[in-house]
Amino acid sequence: MSTSDGSIVGTTQILNNGSPIYRYNIVLLSEGYQNSQLGQFANDAQAFVNRLSRTPPFHLLMNSINVFRVDVSSTDSGADDPMACTDATGTGATARTYFDATFCSGGQTRRLLTVNDATALQVAAAQVPRYRLVVVIVNSPLFGGSGGSVAVYSLAAGAVEIALHEIGHTAFALADEYEYYLGCGSGETDRNNHPPVEQAAPNVTISSDRNTLKWRRYVLAGTNVPTTTNANCAVCDPQATPVPAGTVGAFEGADYYHCGAFRPEFDCKMRTLTRGFCRVCRDVIRRKIGYYSPLTMRFAWKGVGSDQNIYAGRGNDQDQNKLSDLGTSHAPALVNFSGTFMAWKGAFGDQGIYYSRQSHIDGMTWEPQHSVPGVGTSTGPALAVFQNKLYMAWKGIGGDQGIYFTTRDFGGGWAPQRNVPNVGTSTRPALAAFQGRLYMVWKGIGGDQSIWFSSFDGNTWRPQAPVPNAGTSTYPSLAVLRDRLYMAWKGIEGDQSMWFSSFDGNSWRPQAPIPNVGSSTGASLAAGPDRLFMAWSGIAGDPSLYFTAFDGNFWGPQENYLGTGSSAVPALLVTF
Ligand SMILES: [Zn+2]
Repeated sequence: MSTSDGSIVGTTQILNNGSPIYRYNIVLLSEGYQNSQLGQFANDAQAFVNRLSRTPPFHLLMNSINVFRVDVSSTDSGADDPMACTDATGTGATARTYFDATFCSGGQTRRLLTVNDATALQVAAAQVPRYRLVVVIVNSPLFGGSGGSVAVYSLAAGAVEIALHEIGHTAFALADEYEYYLGCGSGETDRNNHPPVEQAAPNVTISSDRNTLKWRRYVLAGTNVPTTTNANCAVCDPQATPVPAGTVGAFEGADYYHCGAFRPEFDCKMRTLTRGFCRVCRDVIRRKIGYYSPLTMRFAWKGVGSDQNIYAGRGNDQDQNKLSDLGTSHAPALVNFSGTFMAWKGAFGDQGIYYSRQSHIDGMTWEPQHSVPGVGTSTGPALAVFQNKLYMAWKGIGGDQGIYFTTRDFGGGWAPQRNVPNVGTSTRPALAAFQGRLYMVWKGIGGDQSIWFSSFDGNTWRPQAPVPNAGTSTYPSLAVLRDRLYMAWKGIEGDQSMWFSSFDGNSWRPQAPIPNVGSSTGASLAAGPDRLFMAWSGIAGDPSLYFTAFDGNFWGPQENYLGTGSSAVPALLVTF
C-alpha cells in the first residue's frame, strides 16, 4: 500500500552511453516484485532495453540513452485488482507493494494501471538525479499500463509494447490515436464526435485542412486530405486504408472519438500496440532524444537531374543548404579529416577534382572550393583516412578505366597521383581502413558487373580478388563496424534491391538483401560507434533521399530525409 511495504535494494546501470549530464537517462523501477523476484526484474528490464533498441526511431538513437534499473522489493507480488470497475471482472486482490500499483485506476477502465507517481519520481530522483524518464514495471500478468508523469506497464503478453506506447505519452506528449475508450464493440455512446477543441499533442488534430494541418510538412501533394472520413460517427470507422502503409495524410477517428479528430497515418503504435510509431510520432521522438545525441549524420548530395549544385545538411532535415559556387555532375564524397572534408568531380564537363572543408563556426558553412592539382575523373572520388593521411582514389577520365590514388597529410598538400596496378573500373571505387590496411572495392570494367577488392599496407597493393557472387551495375560502398568490414551495393542491371556482405580479414560472408529498400544508383555507408548508417536515393523516378541504420544484426526501416532529393548517391558521414 505504501513505501512501508518494501524497500529500495539498489541501482544498476544497464545501458551506458556516457555521462548522465549529456544523455537521455531512463530509470526503470520494479513494482510488485518480492525480494526473491528481483532476478526476474533484471530480465524484464533487459527485455525492455532490447526491445527499445529495435524499435524505430529509438534504433537510431540508442547512443543518446542511458538506462538504470532500480531494484525495489515489495512485501507482496503483483498489483491491486479491484472488483469494482466498469467490467466487474477483477479478482478483488490487493497487494502490499511499494508504489501501490492498481488496475482500473479511477474505476473506469480495467487496463488503466497506475502507481503512486510522486513516490516513483522521488525514488528516481534519489537514485539517478539526472533522470529524464521514469518507467515502472509492474509484476503482474494482467494487461495494463498508463502514461502520466511516469510510464507504467505490466508483464502481460507483448508487455514491452505497452511500455513503448506509454512512453509515447509520458516522454513525448503524444496522444492516443485510437477512437474509443472501452472498445469499438463496447456499445459506448459518448465517443461519436470530438469536441471542437484543438489538442496540443502533435499527432492528433481536429483540422483536416491540408494548408494548416499540423503535420502538413509530411503530406505529399498526391495524398488526399482528409484521407479517410468516417461515414457513421456512431461507430468506429470499419474501412481499410485506401493508401499504402506509411502514407501520411489525415485519417478520421482519433483521440478517443469516432469523428471530428484525425490521425496522421492509418496506423501507429499510439493506435495499435503491435504497430510501429508513425512518421509524425517518430520525428517527435527523434527531435527530443536527438538533443542528447553524440552523433550527427552529415549528408552532401548533387541536385536532381540537371541541377548540378551541391547541397549539404545535417540529420535534422531542416538544416539543409545549397553550397553556392560548388557543383558536380556526380556524387560527392565525405570524410572526417580535421573536420568534415568533402571532395567531388566538377560540374558538367569539368573533370577536375575539388575539395572543401566545413567551417567549424556553425557546422554548416563551407570554404570556397580548392582544386586538387594534376588529377581528373569522369565519375567521382572516394575518401578514407589511413595511417594519419587522407587517401583519395578515383577512376581516370573518359576511356581511362584505371584507378588512381593520392594522399594528403594534416599539414596540407597533395602527393602526386599514383596508379593502382592491374585494376580498372567503369564507375568508381570505395575506400575504408580496416585491420591496419586500406581496403578498396570496385565494380569491374564495362560489362563486368562483379565486385573486386584489394588492400594496401602503405607501400604496395595486393593483387585484386573478386568478392564471391557479388555484382553491381553501379558501385559499392564500404564502412567498418566493430571487427568487420561491411560493403553495401545495388544489384546488377534491373535489380534495384540493395545487398550487403561483410569481411573478417579472410573471407566474405554470402551476400544478403537489405530488407525493404531500393535504389537505382547505390548507397553510402558510414560508421557510428555502435552501428552503421546507410543513405541512398530512391528507385528511378524517386529522387528522395533515405537513410537507415544497422546494429550488426538488424537493419531498421528506411527513413526519408525530407525536403530534398538527388539523382546520384548522397554522401554520408557520421560524426561523434
Ligand atoms: Zn502516430
